[in-house]
Amino acid sequence: MNSFIENDKKYIASTYNRFPLQIVEGKGSVCKDENGKEYIDLGTGIAVNTFGFCDEEWVNAVSKQLNSFQHTSNLYYSSPCITLAKMLSERTGCSKVFFSNSGAEANECAIKTARKYAADVKGVKEPIILTLVNSFHGRTVTTLAATGQDVFHKDFLPLTEGFAYTPANDIELLYENVEKYSPSAIMFEIVQGEGGVVPLDKDFVNELTKIAKEKDILLIVDEVQTGNGRTGKLYSYMNYGFIPDIVSTAKGLAGGLPIGATMLFERVKDVLTPSSHGSTFGGNPVSCAGAVNILSRIDDELLNGVKERHSLIVDTLNNAKGIKGISGMGLMLGIETVKPAADVVKECMEKGVLVLTAKTKVRLLPALNIPMDTLKKALCVIKEVCEN
Ligand SMILES: *Cc1c(COP(=O)(O)O)cnc(C)c1O
Repeated sequence: MNSFIENDKKYIASTYNRFPLQIVEGKGSVCKDENGKEYIDLGTGIAVNTFGFCDEEWVNAVSKQLNSFQHTSNLYYSSPCITLAKMLSERTGCSKVFFSNSGAEANECAIKTARKYAADVKGVKEPIILTLVNSFHGRTVTTLAATGQDVFHKDFLPLTEGFAYTPANDIELLYENVEKYSPSAIMFEIVQGEGGVVPLDKDFVNELTKIAKEKDILLIVDEVQTGNGRTGKLYSYMNYGFIPDIVSTAKGLAGGLPIGATMLFERVKDVLTPSSHGSTFGGNPVSCAGAVNILSRIDDELLNGVKERHSLIVDTLNNAKGIKGISGMGLMLGIETVKPAADVVKECMEKGVLVLTAKTKVRLLPALNIPMDTLKKALCVIKEVCEN
């Protein structure tokens, strides 16, 4: 073991099982380790590097802001976050945006907004938020509570109260649980990412939106992973034709810089009032300048490219030897393999391709603009690894 890895193990909290790979530089969808070995990256730092490593236009936009001012408190006006909020509003129809620094924080804001709405508007003192079994909403104590997976709860009790769970894609139990808990809000991912790349059925989403309307329940969509072009639309709920009340996003929004955004639609636009919420780094001008660049480039042409790449992946891998099935949308895909997913990851890495896992599946989250020939090369490797 080299001293570099030794020091990581010695000085960094042991929360990650790292692969024996140090990335030292990258360009587009290719990165290099310390020995100069090249890898095609199909993980993008978990759906963060939207246009790959060190995309030139993005680097220029970020550098320009970095050379002008790097941070100011939220006590003063600054332009990058205003530009970004206006763009998000124009692209989604949301009324207002709250900026933070991560997915968990974007969800915290969504939860606080839903609670305050229940208190202010409906007089509900201790509202319940219904989330889905097998969901993932973050690692803070409250977003862990929102996460419908016991494995994440273990060792961290007591969690924040006020959450109940219902299984994804089960309409009967949805009605039962809405009856049982009278939730003030329902929070869900359109494609459960960490849960194994499982999309919600159209029928289930239709019923969700129907019951929400009937019972005046807020709809919160967690677009932390699915957002920002990942599923072939700007936000994944747009594939399902409904208007949510709150949308949280993070990961890919700023193309590789920390950001969280909570979009507040008409019904909840005035719930948050001065000092009811805040964040020191939220709306950071460098992150927002990166996000403005990313968002301005997620246009129809780019989204058509996402669909094209999706088709290439599915056509290449579906029914290939050693592959049992593919789930997901756009460039957020889960591949069920005969071999254990961990073995596929390891062997792909040896052959110069970086892929992820999600539960028992091999997960692909490539850059939205990965060149077709680079993608083809990576798919050949995956196919070869899966069939042997
Ligand atoms: C990653 C993720 C989060 C948590 O985001 P962090 O930035 O790690 O806090 C929340 N929800 C979903 C759906 C995610 O994929």
